[in-house]
Amino acid sequence: MTRETAEGKAVRLLGSGSVSVTLAVPGLVNATVFGDHGLYAVTYRRGGFSCSCLAYGGCSHLLAVLRCTAAGHRVAGLSR
Ligand SMILES: [Zn+2]
Repeated sequence: MTRETAEGKAVRLLGSGSVSVTLAVPGLVNATVFGDHGLYAVTYRRGGFSCSCLAYGGCSHLLAVLRCTAAGHRVAGLSR
């Protein structure tokens, strides 16, 4: 059994309807993600993403929101 990557998990979260974008305006995105271990708040503001799970780097919650909004198009340094 192979370990699930953050990207793979992000696709799974999106496919299972676990991602709810609650606000999406230019420069600001708020979303909630039902992860495997609870509910997380993902925020994009002025070029930076943050997630309440406090994982270092790009967690699967953040990547899931990145994939379903245009916000990530201007984010540098996150591998896709
Ligand atoms: Zn997270």
